[in-house]
Amino acid sequence: MAKVINGKQFADRLCKTLKDEVTLLKAQNKLQPCIAVVLVGEDPASQVYVNNKVKRCLEIGIESKEYRLDSTSEELELLDLIQTLNTCDDIHGILVQLPLPDQINDKAVINAIAPEKDVDGFNIENAGALAVGQNQLVPCTPLGSMMLLEDHLGDLSGKHAVVVGRSNIVGKPMANLLLQKNCTVTIAHSRTRDLAEICRQADILVAAVGKPLFVQSTWVKPGATVIDVGINRIQEAGKNRLVGDVDYDSVVDIAGAITPVPGGVGPMTIACLMYNTVAAAKQQTALNTSIYTNTEL
Ligand code: NAP
Repeated sequence: MAKVINGKQFADRLCKTLKDEVTLLKAQNKLQPCIAVVLVGEDPASQVYVNNKVKRCLEIGIESKEYRLDSTSEELELLDLIQTLNTCDDIHGILVQLPLPDQINDKAVINAIAPEKDVDGFNIENAGALAVGQNQLVPCTPLGSMMLLEDHLGDLSGKHAVVVGRSNIVGKPMANLLLQKNCTVTIAHSRTRDLAEICRQADILVAAVGKPLFVQSTWVKPGATVIDVGINRIQEAGKNRLVGDVDYDSVVDIAGAITPVPGGVGPMTIACLMYNTVAAAKQQTALNTSIYTNTEL
């Protein structure tokens, strides 16, 4: 039976460390870390995500400012808002909740955020920095997944990591981070042949596919570490159930360790958003900071 990697517990520990750090920053440096959260439209799932992020900010002592635009807003209106936020010295992080309405080009919006305030780590400058190993702000989900992996396995050097999924927000940055830690990395996607066979070679298997219960127990090497990034809502016996991209109930008997859904990678994503906001605030006020280090955890 696999060890269950408790992302909720790790995220709570990270947030406690951040809370202590924010308390010190306020007292010693008169620095109040602050994030601007921008929501366009009334998508219910987005509202839940934004509320959860704002709640975590409050717990840690990070100030959050919410900006809500109508679902019919034009791209220019959002770009103007971002320009204003980019130049506000007391705002250190800008988060635009995705998805955006169809009339708005999300790439243009993401790339309009000043790189040093891009706490989601999605804009082209931060993606490029990560690709060449000069990490600035790293996307929160892969960052959190790496923290869990290193906490569980220690040195990742030489391990074969298979990442299923090549999105810009999860798969690609995850593969880059694993490569930086000297893993041998295979990236699989919808055109990959013999996916099960490739997955069976993984010491570390990361599933970021967006398909419920997709990865089967027969795809998993005994003892492998499985990171399930997926968040899918399914109907079971007339009820809603949250499941990952991995068939947890069968894989748990084969893997050496596995992240559950919920309670695995999900809580780490929000915790890493807080981590990036504090790091961005320190960097913008020229306080010495090292982005992505595990040493203080
Ligand atoms: P995405 O942009 O839809 O990307 C999905 C990836 O999976 C694509 O690269 C796609 O390949 C690949 N794929 C689809 N079908 C496949 C198949 N049959 N075999 C192999 N690969 C296949 O999704 P995402 O944004 O990366 O998110 C992935 C999952 O993570 C979703 O469940 C999402 O809800 C979840 N998520 C969770 C968090 C969190 O906080 N835990 C954060 C972000 C996302 P192609 O490129 O060839 O199409």
